[in-house]
Amino acid sequence: MSDFISILGVKGGPAIRPGSNMPTAILLRVGGRCLLIDAGLGATRGVCDQGVALTEIAQIFVTHLHSDHYLELGPFLHTAWTAGLSERVIVHGPEGLAGYWAGFLQSMDFDIKLRIEDEGRPDLAALFDLRVLEEGEVLAEPGLTVRALRNVHPPIEESYALRFETEDACVVISGDTAFMPEMIEFSRGADVLVHEAMLTQGVDALVAKVGPRDDRLRQHILRSHTSASDAGRIAAQAGVGTLALMHFVPDGLPEFGPDAWIAAVRETWTGPLILGTDGVRIDL
Ligand SMILES: [Zn+2]
Ligand SMILES: [Zn+2]
Repeated sequence: MSDFISILGVKGGPAIRPGSNMPTAILLRVGGRCLLIDAGLGATRGVCDQGVALTEIAQIFVTHLHSDHYLELGPFLHTAWTAGLSERVIVHGPEGLAGYWAGFLQSMDFDIKLRIEDEGRPDLAALFDLRVLEEGEVLAEPGLTVRALRNVHPPIEESYALRFETEDACVVISGDTAFMPEMIEFSRGADVLVHEAMLTQGVDALVAKVGPRDDRLRQHILRSHTSASDAGRIAAQAGVGTLALMHFVPDGLPEFGPDAWIAAVRETWTGPLILGTDGVRIDL
């Protein structure tokens, strides 16, 4: 199997409904390793649909603690365990992730103890090594380096973009972020830039459909995400090979289909463009 990146879920935000895409999860195969970036709803099925066994995932990165990026992390790890995981898996995430993991283990205590005693499975908790994700070099292994950049996603402060580099390939994932000029340098020369995208004119339509009656949801979206046009601007100034858009806000509204997204990003980016769809696979 050659190296690739697959965006398993391209929808921005946690709610799903008929016709919508799935929340964020990205499978990256680089230098013979399989990595999972974020574990929103659907991540477990999504990995299997790419022909990758759950037990092949060597490391996991959680970019920030919005539920659309880690709601399925516990179920993913538990299911990998029941699928026969025996190697230790490193999970990189913001500090609060440890509390989530402890709570998940507690919530499944009956089942986990039962399977250890009744089925002879290894200790689930000991299989996962949680490490706090911080800005800078996250990983430097032979053949793979990973760097994190703190992005702009208020009110969350612990939120990161990630850059994965091997001898042959470089992939940058923006995470959830408002437009930030630092992303240009961070993405410099990447083969693929996977960037989140918002269609500004679609935000009002989205809020009218799903939002509470006050203005907080609308304000949150506008100050913590990047317009498709600005995502294209970053790709152009960073000189990336391909721009792949995901974390669409809005998602699943028929009046904001592919033509609207393409028109917005083409204001600033003329290079290779992929509008993500659930399970889209990009060869590296
Ligand atoms: Zn999100
Ligand atoms: Zn977010």
